[in-house]
Amino acid sequence: MTDLDRMLHPDEARAIVLAQARPLPTETVPLEEAGGRVLAHALVAAESLPPFRASTMDGFAVVSSDATEQRNILGSGLAGAVPAETVSMGSVARIMTGAPVPDGADAVVPVERTSEADGKVRILLDAVLPGDNIRPVGSDMVAGAEVLPAGTRLTGPYLGLLASLGEASVEVGGRPRVAVFSTGDEVVAPDVEPGPGQIRDANRFTLTYAAGQAGGEVVLSRHVPDDEAALRSAFAEALETADVIVTSGGVSMGDRDLVKALLGDFAEVRFRRVFMKPGKPLNFATAGEKLIFGLPGNPVSCLVSFHMFALPALAVMQGLATVEHETVSVTTTADVQPSDRIEYQRAVIVVAEDGQLTALTTGPQQSSRLQSFVGANGFLVVPPSTETIPGGSVLDAILYAPPFGAKG
Ligand code: AMP
Ligand code: MG
Repeated sequence: MTDLDRMLHPDEARAIVLAQARPLPTETVPLEEAGGRVLAHALVAAESLPPFRASTMDGFAVVSSDATEQRNILGSGLAGAVPAETVSMGSVARIMTGAPVPDGADAVVPVERTSEADGKVRILLDAVLPGDNIRPVGSDMVAGAEVLPAGTRLTGPYLGLLASLGEASVEVGGRPRVAVFSTGDEVVAPDVEPGPGQIRDANRFTLTYAAGQAGGEVVLSRHVPDDEAALRSAFAEALETADVIVTSGGVSMGDRDLVKALLGDFAEVRFRRVFMKPGKPLNFATAGEKLIFGLPGNPVSCLVSFHMFALPALAVMQGLATVEHETVSVTTTADVQPSDRIEYQRAVIVVAEDGQLTALTTGPQQSSRLQSFVGANGFLVVPPSTETIPGGSVLDAILYAPPFGAKG
């Protein structure tokens, strides 16, 4: 047995992967295209927002201590026109929501608390306090403050923050180009009626989607037969066009497991086996800065190993601040059957009525059963054991979607 065949603890394997993953060069993209990208530098507010005292109401800017019965409307009196004059005792200025409060005024009275006749305004409130209905300068954001840390994935609200601060374009981490190959002579496209011994290709679709979700740009996605020449040319093409190559199948102990057999010819193989279930055979190799994940063919093994190893690597390449999986403690609500390896069982993780997280696995957990993902939002981390783990036990779980509230 060579060292490459040593079965690595998943944490050790992930550390090897992360040590090989390098942030890609950053690029500057227009804000319209920045959604889902990763902020390269911290966003620091160049100005305060609002930059002026802003009204939160449609109404009249007033002097709060003024008790004048009938007050004159300054300026044109048109909505939106900021009067040049200072508001003082006996006068008001018409103001719209969001508009600058004119000098002299220290409060805004909503229009529905006033009555207006013959160009004069009466305030229908017993008392007006200084600051009423005014957003002070910098109440949303103070100039010089860090608004978003570097390494933040840009979602909708964050794009709004960038826009509000006048950032029409933004420097983001590079987007890893990913090539996806499903392999296997027995694997046919979904629109083909499988012949004897054939199965439909699930992995090309699960992996292509997963790579995109992880922030990658899938530049190649195709099925390759178990044929040496075809595989070599697919890898050669992918090494030209992609930063990351993800394959499924061909990495176990069979004669036709050609991915495993060929990888060493053009890449440096870093490990071949991980002490985990599903997904024991997992070939990780590098060619220069390019990463190659030879994932197992069983659809569940394939996706779980993508999640455990390729996902963090893609995060590093984009410059994401958070690379590690979100691990939480959960209480099992039924017995769990462990295996002889660390097992990542698909589970439904919810917040129970007492506020604790509970986990229930999704039925049979064999590595061919993709249905075990249905409804699941995390992996229950089941330590190896020969004994049943009784319901009510506390285990770790890796969340990949939020645990929604208690199920009724
Ligand atoms: P392998 O890793 O190539 O030995 O494949 C392991 C198992 O996964 C076999 O039962 C294959 O038929 C199945 N398999 C391989 N590739 C795919 C695929 N793309 N979609 C669905 N199942 C697959
Ligand atoms: Mg195969």
